[in-house]
Amino acid sequence: MPEPIIKLKDLEITYNPGKSNEYKATQGVSMDIYPGEFVAFFGPSGCGKSTLFYCILGVLPPSAGELYVMGQNPYSFSPEEMVNFQTNTIGIIYQAFFLINSISVIDNVVLPQIFHGVPPAKRRRWAKELLKRFDMEKHGEKFPDNLSGGQSQRVSVARSMVNNPKILLADEPTGNLDSVSTKQVMSALEEINRVDKKTVIIITHNAAQLSYAHRVFYMKDGLLERIVPNPEKKQIAKVDKQKILVTEMDKLAKIYPYETPVRLKVKSLVNYLTQDINFDQILRLEDFVELMVERKICKDEFISLLNKRFHEGGLGLFPADARDMAEKVEKVLKQSEDARRFRRRFMDNNFFSREDLLLQRLAKYIADECGEDLDVTRKKRLKDLVYKRVAGLIGVADFENYLRVKIDDGGLGISRLRARKLTLHFEKILIQGTDTKGNEH
Ligand code: ADP
Repeated sequence: MPEPIIKLKDLEITYNPGKSNEYKATQGVSMDIYPGEFVAFFGPSGCGKSTLFYCILGVLPPSAGELYVMGQNPYSFSPEEMVNFQTNTIGIIYQAFFLINSISVIDNVVLPQIFHGVPPAKRRRWAKELLKRFDMEKHGEKFPDNLSGGQSQRVSVARSMVNNPKILLADEPTGNLDSVSTKQVMSALEEINRVDKKTVIIITHNAAQLSYAHRVFYMKDGLLERIVPNPEKKQIAKVDKQKILVTEMDKLAKIYPYETPVRLKVKSLVNYLTQDINFDQILRLEDFVELMVERKICKDEFISLLNKRFHEGGLGLFPADARDMAEKVEKVLKQSEDARRFRRRFMDNNFFSREDLLLQRLAKYIADECGEDLDVTRKKRLKDLVYKRVAGLIGVADFENYLRVKIDDGGLGISRLRARKLTLHFEKILIQGTDTKGNEH
């Protein structure tokens, strides 16, 4: 068993000590992280993850307790030793990238080497190699402003590796990225850990990323609550064998980290009662549906993903089920476009000309779904109802009720079961038709 590369013992960090706004952000935190481990600090916002990150980085001294990185206390370093520590021992990746926009991508990557007296040609060669490794070699001469979020983060990964550090600290590295870029960045970190044997510490509140880690450090209210080894990874640290038994509970705990064990058991049973697909499939299905929602794949590509065997990266559904599912998703997404258009015009107050057409179309989707022939009066009532709901003048329960009210009493006279189904369908259209740009986080 090697010595820990990072050791924390009863660590406590207090902000603004002795002042009226004194705040104890972490206390009694003890952990050993071993060379070559990939660990995740996981917990809700405000639990103290970043506080630990900055403490390990050498910029936030502990108020009590001990910290050792490679056997040394960084807070005992001279200023030169500290610079050396922060540039050579630790590589950093931030959620917000922190690239310098006025210099090229390649210069951003080499920047941490400039202070090392490495000749420029050699620096650039090395930076190019790194960019190539993270699939960014084509973009070396661009400026960071012209890169997507995913590309920017891959440049930061290259930059973090330029001085060949032993430890990589990543603070929510995928917090600003879409699912495809997230996968690319996480795979890059995984490779750096597996191939280069770097110790990787990632801060995240995304449970889906925990599968990359050897061990997960669950934090809450400034405390390290538990350390959970990942049963699917060969452990580097010494862990209790009992704890490596893979059960559905372990998987569920990763997907729903904030639920109690009883709630996890409930979820497991409810899933058994209501779904034909297991939790691993649900997670993967979410990724595929996200690609559809973001219009990154078409229906046929979606079907083929659903169809493909699970171990080949698909969902493993039968062809007929895959088609059914794809049709449902495509229908809702297509129909939601009209809801989106209507809402935009409604918000902008400029929908006199074509508002009626949109409402007619939205009402027709519901009428088609209904399967009954509606006469002129019921069609008109449906359109009116659709208008009220899409404009937010009535709630979901009223919408369902009006569908059920007898025709003689001014309603649509639709059966209870069908009314529920139509309401559900319309709500899906409305949700998909909501603009989410700009407030995804
Ligand atoms: P996380 O990274 O898990 O979201 P942080 O480590 O950023 O959490 O914060 C932990 C707690 O410490 C939070 O309650 C936060 O408000 C507080 N905190 C963070 N930075 C400061 C600061 N500079 N001064 C005072 N309190 C702070």
